[in-house]
Amino acid sequence: MCLSFGKSQQLILIIMDKTAIIGAGPAGTSAAIYLSRFAHNVLLFDKKISDGRTSMAPDLQNYLGHSDKLTGKEFINNIRQQIKRFPIEFIKEKVVEINQSKNGIFNIIIENNHKFQVKYLIVAVGLFDGYIKLPNIDKYYDKSIFHCLACDWWQNRNKKIVVAGNNEEAIFTAATIAKMEMPPKLSVVPTDENFSFDKELIKISKKLKIQIYQSPIREIIGKNDVVQKIVLENGQNVECQIIFETLGFIRRDKFLDKGNISPERNEKGFIVVNFDNYESSTTNLFAVGPCNDGPDQAIIAAGEGAVATLEIHSRIMTEKFEGLNS
Ligand SMILES: Cc1cc2nc3c(=O)[nH]c(=O)nc-3n(C[C@H](O)[C@H](O)[C@H](O)COP(=O)(O)OP(=O)(O)OC[C@H]3O[C@@H](n4cnc5c(N)ncnc54)[C@H](O)[C@@H]3O)c2cc1C
Repeated sequence: MCLSFGKSQQLILIIMDKTAIIGAGPAGTSAAIYLSRFAHNVLLFDKKISDGRTSMAPDLQNYLGHSDKLTGKEFINNIRQQIKRFPIEFIKEKVVEINQSKNGIFNIIIENNHKFQVKYLIVAVGLFDGYIKLPNIDKYYDKSIFHCLACDWWQNRNKKIVVAGNNEEAIFTAATIAKMEMPPKLSVVPTDENFSFDKELIKISKKLKIQIYQSPIREIIGKNDVVQKIVLENGQNVECQIIFETLGFIRRDKFLDKGNISPERNEKGFIVVNFDNYESSTTNLFAVGPCNDGPDQAIIAAGEGAVATLEIHSRIMTEKFEGLNS
């Protein structure tokens, strides 16, 4: 089922035991499927098919159940088809604000100002990646520039690799690569003039044959959207075919800031959850997938969505059984 609305009037939909899921990537769709298969009411919000990070994956080699190449877009298309088998209300709208009434009910407001009220809320909005700030660099992303060793190191392990970052995380990432399997060339380059590489770590890197450069990237040169070399501000050239960047992540749940809900957040700003059931410090608000600063893997995001719904299912059933006594 799919709901969409005109702009003329505000519609308020109230269903008390309903769960709203924000984000229809692997985390959110997994949650939606589990809940609907327990016959619970589910609202699933997402605006675009290709807005999540899963859609950017060139080949989900580590996800189960396929022997051929599976791009993130194909995977998302498959799960969007799968949810049609279940009575999930898929609302193709962006959530812009969520606040909470005194009785604990969450008020979800979407772009056209329509409002939905639910008892349970699952935030499954993924992340934005930190990016190298250079003109015309987008074309290299997901072809030659990646963020995640678990996703993209294996198929690129025999290429000349550069880790781009500005602190010890870049050096740790390069050291990890060196210790998994040394590529033909392995370097670390800063992306920002305010970089800071620890002297002791530089010494360890030398032992591992990692070359650490001390001048930020000026330009990335490539052909057919594939990186060939990096030119640094000091004029040095760095041979390179693959870049792994360690520039952090940016949260996508800023719609929560506009309302009156303030779940506990960690030092990076991500929602802190109880990893037994993915509930935040706000009762009945769950955060699943990498938006809780946990592992950034599609299969784990899907698993977290399932775990959160088992908790919600248990709470709804407890309420229903208690209702039998009254
Ligand atoms: C280049 C690349 C390659 C990757 N390769 C792999 C791989 O090979 N294997 C692997 O396991 N993982 C891989 N990943 C990681 C994987 O994509 C993530 O772990 C996964 O996307 C997390 O799923 P998610 O459902 O939490 O988030 P997402 O897939 O990002 O989905 C979040 C959804 O929330 C929606 N949303 C956001 N804000 C709102 C809002 N306000 N209102 C409504 N909807 C909203 C978005 O539109 C999006 O559809 C890769 C990531 C990248 C970037």
